[in-house]
Order: sequence, then structure tokens, then C-alpha cells
Amino acid sequence: MTTDIKNNREHEQQRVLLLMSPATYRAGAFLSASRKLNLAVVVGIDLPETLSEYWHVPLGLDFQDPEASVRTIVEYARQHPIAAIIAVDDSASEIAARASSKLGLAHNSPQAAEAARDKLLMRGLMSAGGAPCPVFRQFLLSEDPVRFATQVTYPCVVKPLRLSGSRGVIRADNVEEFIAAFNRLKRLLLAEGYVEEETSILVEDFIPGFEVALEGILTHGQLKVLALFDKPDPLDGPFFEETIYVTPSRLPEEVQQDIADCVAVAAASLDLREGPVHAELRVNEQGPWMLEIAGRSIGGLCSTILEFGSGMCLEELILRNALGLEIRSIEREQRAAGVMMIPIPAGGMLRAVHGVEEAEKVPLISGVEITARLHHLLVPLPEGASYLGFIFARGDTPAEVEEAIREAHSLLQFEIRREIPVLGTPVLKGYLSQRT
Ligand code: ADP
Ligand code: CA
Repeated sequence: MTTDIKNNREHEQQRVLLLMSPATYRAGAFLSASRKLNLAVVVGIDLPETLSEYWHVPLGLDFQDPEASVRTIVEYARQHPIAAIIAVDDSASEIAARASSKLGLAHNSPQAAEAARDKLLMRGLMSAGGAPCPVFRQFLLSEDPVRFATQVTYPCVVKPLRLSGSRGVIRADNVEEFIAAFNRLKRLLLAEGYVEEETSILVEDFIPGFEVALEGILTHGQLKVLALFDKPDPLDGPFFEETIYVTPSRLPEEVQQDIADCVAVAAASLDLREGPVHAELRVNEQGPWMLEIAGRSIGGLCSTILEFGSGMCLEELILRNALGLEIRSIEREQRAAGVMMIPIPAGGMLRAVHGVEEAEKVPLISGVEITARLHHLLVPLPEGASYLGFIFARGDTPAEVEEAIREAHSLLQFEIRREIPVLGTPVLKGYLSQRT
């Protein structure tokens, strides 16, 4: 009798595949939401085959080889039926789309997933689809920046097509700055293994204004806004570190509606139809401007501050949406919430972090999480790819949340030894080549 019930339960238990890179911050949140929903979870992780065998990872995948990854997933699913595939971070969104379509699961088309990752494709589709976005041009890395520096309008932003976290995104106000920015981005991309003759970069008009981020979810092409974040720090460049996010937005209701409409148009123009979206926009007197839209949820540990309905986290909402399970309410809780991605003040070796306890004691602060590792190298933007950590806060108003975060941040001290050690990773090489 007991066995029967157990078998039935197992039979009912749905399986989700979570695709993630080993460096993701978001595994924990998705795993615990899956547990809460009593789902069977299999993690498809971006690891070379030899390593995944060594570590007994059930589903090691090479994200650089989407075709092979899709084959492996489809084969796996024959033995172990999969009810939904979630790309936890950007790197696997195309694989998730392709495998989902092979397995008949609701998902974005592979083309949409690709467009949401490639800034040039994205710009082309967005402007064709009527989403306001900056005027853009594409240049090959092998071209001579001196020649076309005079054809660009200033201020402009130079950026890579496929990096993230503002890596390689540089503002230039004039010809000299443009040439320097171009060369700096080129060094970074070459160090990352891109081939000069085959790699383009994007140069677009700098859009002044206030920046916001919209967290949303799509179901059959319908966008629902989950949260709109203000980014209260001025983001004027030349590099664009993420810092503070605060929700709810303090912008007027009509402006918030314009932002949501703009994101809906952008999603439709890319043909993004299912699952989470994270969009970034600038807002000025002319209205909202799309910077980008990604087919994933908010990065880092930022989702920790979001709570919906009666205590549902963002990851549970995403899983429920993917599985077609009931979502009683997508209404975010009443309180204000904020997070700061702690920027790296200088490059070098992180020797010590002080003040964490004091920062945690600041009223309204709900957590301070240092994610950078001691005795490891910190590389600031535009070359680097990480933060020092996160500060989380909750309160009655967005203003007091922002203030608490700033106070907590001012209590943190990072001891960074600036001398540069021996050459190591490609990132480091890129960094060194611009400093020496
Ligand atoms: P990433 O995918 O690396 O985050 P983005 O295109 O989102 O790259 O650029 C990162 C940041 O750079 C944006 O959040 C914004 O602050 C700034 N930025 C990028 N493009 C523009 C632009 N055209 N005008 C003004 N700011 C921009
Ligand atoms: Ca971005």
C-alpha cells in the first residue's frame, strides 16, 4: 500500500532541467524553488565531458557546442521525461530554446533566444519592430578606427555584441576617446578569443537619462510586469557599473506604463514569447528608450529581494509559469526593496574586507553578502566580470531603502593590494595590456 502511494507520487513528480554555467550565482535560488514545488531537478552544467564524468555530473554539456548539447538533452529526456527546461543564465538560452522545441515544450524560438543575446541582432529587430532605441552602427574589429571616428556622432557608446554585465561597454565623447575605446574593447575581445576579421562591435548614440530595469514574465506573448526597478545612481560612463536597484519605481504612473509598453513592443519585435525577461531602459523627456532585453531573470543574487503573492520567490514563479502550474498572484509585496551590486573600486588583490557586521546592523539592511574571494584578483570594468558582493535592504519607502544601502556601503572597506601579479587568465591579460 505504502509503496503504491510512493510510486504514484514519484510518477506525478515533474522533472525540470536547469541549464547553468558553473559560475552562476543563481543555482541556489532555482534549486530551492524546485524543492519547494517538489520537482525532480536535473542540472545541465557547462562542463567539459571529462570533468563531468570525473565529478559524476549527470548532465555535463558543452554550451559552446549547442548542437551536441541539444542532442544530449533530447537523449536524456527519452529515459527521463522533462516537463520544462530553464536557462538559468544567458549562456544556455539558445540551447534551452532548441531542446524545448525538439521536446515539444512551450518556449521561445531559437531565433528569439539568439536575438536576446546578440546586441546587433537585437538592435536590428527592435528598430524594425518600432521599439525606440539608439541609432547604431556596426564595425569590424579589423577596421581602422581612425578612419571612421569622424563618421560617428558623439557622445557614443562602444560595445561588444555578446558580453554581459557591462563588460567592454565604454562611452566616448570625441574622436580621441572613440579611438581609445575601440582599441580597448578590441584588446578585451581578442583576449577573450574572438577573431579580429570575424568580430563586429556596436557603436551607438549615448542616450542620456534615468535608467530603469524591468523584470517581467511572458506567457504566449503576453507581458506581465513583475517589478520595475529604478537605478538611482547616475550612469553616465565612461564605464557602466551596476550599482543600486530599488523597487517600486518612483517614476510617475504614466511613465511606468510607457516603460511597460515599450518593453512589450521590444519583446514582440524579437519574438520573445515565453518565460522571464529582464529589460533595461533609459528614460528622458522623449520617453523610454530600450537599451536591451534578455530572455532570463535578473542577475546575480538580486532576485533575493523579490517576493510575490504570499511568499513566492521569483524562481518559483518562473518554474510555475514554465510548467503551467497555478500562479495565484504576481503582485509584489507592498514594501520597498533594494539591492546594491557592490562595485570594484580598484584592480588588484583583495586582501581583506572590513565593516560587514557594522553594515549588516544598519536599519533596514537585510543582508550583506561578499562574493569576491580573498586573495583573488579583482578586475574592475570595463574588463572585469564580477562584483564584490551584494547589499540587500527592505523598508517602507524606496527612498529609505536607498539611503540604508548607501549607509551600509559607506561602512564597508575593501583592502585591495594594487600591484599586479603574474599573468593568468585571458581576462587578466586584457586588463594588463591596457595598463602597461
Ligand atoms: P550588458 O549586456 O553588458 O549589460 P548593455 O548594453 O546593457 O550591456 O550596457 C550596459 C550599460 O551601459 C547599460 O546599463 C547603460 O547604463 C549603459 N549603456 C549602454 N548603451 C547605452 C546607450 N546607448 N546610451 C546610454 N547608456 C548606455
Ligand atoms: Ca545590460
